Amino acid sequence: MENEPDRLLVVDDDSNNRDMLSRRLTRRGYTVDVAEDGPTALEKISRAHYDLVLLDQMMPGMGGLDLLRLLRATYSANDLPVIMVTAVDQTETVVEALNGGANDYVVKPVDLPVMTARIEAQLTRARQDREIRVSEQRYSLAARGANDGLWDWDLLAGTIYYSPRWLAILGYDEDEFQPLPEEWFSRLHPDDQGCVREEVSAHIEHHAGENVRAPSEFSSEHRIRNKQGEYQWVLSRGAVMRGEDGRPMRFAGSLTDIAARKGSDPLTGLGNRLLTLERIETALRGGEFALVLLDLDGFKVMNDSFGHHTGDRILCETADRIRAQISELGLSEVCTASRIGGDEFTILMEKLESAAQARMLAERVVERIGRPMSIHGFEVTISASAGIAVGASGRASAEDVMRDADLAMYQAKESGKNRCAMFEMGLRDKMHARMMMAHDLHRAIENRQLEAFYQPKVDLKTRAITGFEALLRWRHPKLGLIQPNDFIPLAEETGLIVPIGEWVLEEACCQLKTWQNMFPTTPPLSMNVNLSVKQLRDSTLLEHVRTVLDKTGVDPFTLKLELTETALMTEIAEAKQVLDGLRAMHIGLKLDDFGTGYSSLNYLRELHFDSLKIDRSFVARMTQDSESHAIVETMIKLAQAMDMNVVAEGIEDEQQLNELVRLGCDTGQGFYFSRPVEVGKAEKMLEEAFAGMRPAAHAG
Ligand code: C2E
Ligand code: CA
Ligand code: CA
Repeated sequence: MENEPDRLLVVDDDSNNRDMLSRRLTRRGYTVDVAEDGPTALEKISRAHYDLVLLDQMMPGMGGLDLLRLLRATYSANDLPVIMVTAVDQTETVVEALNGGANDYVVKPVDLPVMTARIEAQLTRARQDREIRVSEQRYSLAARGANDGLWDWDLLAGTIYYSPRWLAILGYDEDEFQPLPEEWFSRLHPDDQGCVREEVSAHIEHHAGENVRAPSEFSSEHRIRNKQGEYQWVLSRGAVMRGEDGRPMRFAGSLTDIAARKGSDPLTGLGNRLLTLERIETALRGGEFALVLLDLDGFKVMNDSFGHHTGDRILCETADRIRAQISELGLSEVCTASRIGGDEFTILMEKLESAAQARMLAERVVERIGRPMSIHGFEVTISASAGIAVGASGRASAEDVMRDADLAMYQAKESGKNRCAMFEMGLRDKMHARMMMAHDLHRAIENRQLEAFYQPKVDLKTRAITGFEALLRWRHPKLGLIQPNDFIPLAEETGLIVPIGEWVLEEACCQLKTWQNMFPTTPPLSMNVNLSVKQLRDSTLLEHVRTVLDKTGVDPFTLKLELTETALMTEIAEAKQVLDGLRAMHIGLKLDDFGTGYSSLNYLRELHFDSLKIDRSFVARMTQDSESHAIVETMIKLAQAMDMNVVAEGIEDEQQLNELVRLGCDTGQGFYFSRPVEVGKAEKMLEEAFAGMRPAAHAG
């Protein structure tokens, strides 16, 4: 390990700078990796370890300082030293960079010996810091291992000495705990109280008069309320010491923290999955109870893009908020909060008064988690969805309860996230139907049940058909024609969207080639195909697109891929590479449903879209409300300013059409011209439109 070369990451948008630095630094013995922009750098850093980052301050899009700020949210200056590379005469920005957490800076044009010296200084410092931290950790671990908490009960005086470590295990300070046995007993879990008291007194009484010399050991596992108000599992061991006459004098022993063994989650200090299941099993045999299952919305994306340090902080903060809410409602005695995995939490409520009480708790917790969090000095907002299952009704095991709460949680996510849903019997049927549908969808391609419908795209000025958008339909043998909104989400969830998307692409390209041959217009007819973000994540996408183009002979200029705005934003780093690849093939990129997401100009530029599609909700309202009208107008101006084409979808009447033409919109689609139709009808439409045009000879 010691001899491995240090790994540097050079972040610079200028490829000459990048190459030059990387070559020179490699020659000096470093392992050098490069990134051409902020998002790429973030991605690389989240995936691999680097010892130091050289960061260009001036980059388009996410600038050097922005990236620095993001990095410092997760990595301290010692974890990941950053040296800024700045242009000369930028004193203010240098100050800003140093304040923002840069370790050092160098000025362009870079003087290599100076740079190497500064890199070495930072690497050495970080190394020393690491060594110190490791030895400190070792020390505290050793100390902890040897150091259970101690207690010493003077049975004659009726007082107990609790050692500082004993108190620390439970989070208390010395002045918060009176040296009395009752301080201990009163904090025991109600379910453990009776039993522990009995064991203790039995132990003290038992040996009176028997062999004085060989005190047997007292040992008891129980829960005791700690400073945070939770019940914590501990093991108390001890022995009674007796006087000459056999009278008990002292009772002394140790306290061990057995939280982990007893089912607690090491990260958040809440219970773990095992504990929850155990408790539910018990609850199933007792009175009324409810299980609330919480899942953070979009946590994976945050964890992937900001790194797991930030992810962990979010989880801990979430746990704190759950705890705080339970305690605020005075429910600590009856609630067990756990983290059962990843970003999933549960609250088991025992001695439930009513279903409404569980819902109230769930709603408050969801609301509380949704408030902005301050993580490493940054404001982060995350929401949670909750599912609630009440009582034992028809549930035989803890797993059943968990599954029903999970179904309800799923329902909450489906109806828009950041909310709660109660489990209802109907949900099981619904999920069953969904499973059946997923099963059928699996077979849909090979059973030839998928069908592409085509909706014409129209030049709004000449009203000529310029091409089509392919829109998928599923002819289900029992359920009839299913619309995409009713099965695309399922296809995305199950991953089936990848083969289905491949099928649509090939089908649409084949059809396009046929029509281009039949109707050789100038410019040629074009085809729009919708792409799911899930497809962007598939590594074979580019290859597949290329194969389809080769196989069908479609000119890439006539293929346009549509991506929706909301979906893209969460996957920007991944999307960029794939989009660049498509772009390099000269395929048009269209941003679909524009206006429904962040509508960020930066993204538009960064991802090189060449046209945007105004979402049909704005077109629908534009002739009725002035706000929608203004939005449409702005979008058109924006597109023109950025040299992008603009397409209006969902044109349903003449009035909308005229207004869009007046505002300068190029192209449109909508029921006013035609609904999406089967292939035969689309072909008829073309025949009518281009009557008299002679079919061209099919090119070889
Ligand atoms: P989208 O891409 O926004 O497609 C436009 C939708 O608007 C289509 O719904 C179309 O029938 C509808 N539409 C067109 N003109 C009008 C109009 O004048 N008024 C109204 N009210 N609606 C109009 P459709 O075919 O049900 O598709 C729904 C969504 O399903 C699409 O929205 C798209 O996101 C998705 N989708 C369809 N086919 C595919 C596909 O092959 N792959 C993927 N990934 N998604 C697809
Ligand atoms: Ca579309
Ligand atoms: Ca759309």
